[in-house]
Amino acid sequence: MLMDRFGRTIEYIRLSVTDRCDLRCSYCMPKGFKGFEEPENWLTFDEIARVIGAFTRLGTRRVRLTGGEPLLRRNLPQLAARLSALPGLDDLSLSTNATQLHKHAEALHDAGVRRLNISLDSLRRDCVSELTGSDSLPRVMEGLMAAKAAGFAPIKINMVAMKGVNDGDIEAMVAFCIEHGFVLRLIEAMPVGDTGRAAHFLDLQPVLARLQQQFGLLPQAADLGGGPARYWSTPDGRFTLGLITPISQHFCATCNRVRLSVDGTLYMCLGQEERFELRPLLRAGCSDAELEAAIREAIELKPERHEFRERPGKIVRIMSMTGG
Ligand code: SAM
Ligand code: SF4
Repeated sequence: MLMDRFGRTIEYIRLSVTDRCDLRCSYCMPKGFKGFEEPENWLTFDEIARVIGAFTRLGTRRVRLTGGEPLLRRNLPQLAARLSALPGLDDLSLSTNATQLHKHAEALHDAGVRRLNISLDSLRRDCVSELTGSDSLPRVMEGLMAAKAAGFAPIKINMVAMKGVNDGDIEAMVAFCIEHGFVLRLIEAMPVGDTGRAAHFLDLQPVLARLQQQFGLLPQAADLGGGPARYWSTPDGRFTLGLITPISQHFCATCNRVRLSVDGTLYMCLGQEERFELRPLLRAGCSDAELEAAIREAIELKPERHEFRERPGKIVRIMSMTGG
């Protein structure tokens, strides 16, 4: 097992397969952004499979494919199939903006991806266009329906809730999720990069109180995916709401994850700079034992908590670099 200095077991890795994206969400990637990683520095599928193989030998059971937009990485279902076949890995999931999902949903499901998180901040076409820099809502809807038809379960909608931007859209999103059996997760905007800092932060605690009253939501003890979200459900179980509140109520004490970026950097925390470069080791021909030792060394660097409240100006890298 991998355990950090604070007694937390690390059993989850978020794997960014690309730092590129076809959208420019206002809180994530700046318009005109050019600072992408060079292709020669991208970990190959063989290198990724080696690293994830080492993590699974060290007790990691869950992997989430993310990005940038992961569906922009060519042949992603092939990588998914290799990872889902790794002994010890029992949960392979994907975070996507769903613009390309209609083309890949079935292949990804066949490859062993089961759980999907789909980013969607509004059901209003003009609001989505404004927020993502692209008239993407129709394609996202097509992707969502293809995912439903392919049998993914659960499908969670990730909605970054922002004051004066889309906070008036929450009730419509609840109704949409009830209609389709999706879980809705509301996320507080995090001050990562200038874009994250410019997002109109909305404290989700009052939103929760309102929705609890409106829908009679009851807290769920069940762990719905081993992440930081806390969940509430209607008494008939038809609707589940998740809240990710890194700012108003942080969850660092139970953090169980690290992040691997496309260039082979292990990031220890979204809100801190501690990192460990694996690519030089991999390309120097390290042994499996050396790779495992490097991962253990990296985990020792994991900081106790982020400082989004205390030092909101600290993190200059944008979310798409670390995969959210
Ligand atoms: N492109 C994929 C997507 O959008 O789902 C995967 C990568 S994206 C970086 C992962 C998640 O990070 C998304 O749910 C997105 O909404 C979230 N995100 C990006 N920037 C954020 C910020 N500043 N604060 C909170 N969440 C953010
Ligand atoms: Fe792209 Fe996802 Fe960032 Fe939006 S949140 S710009 S879809 S990586």
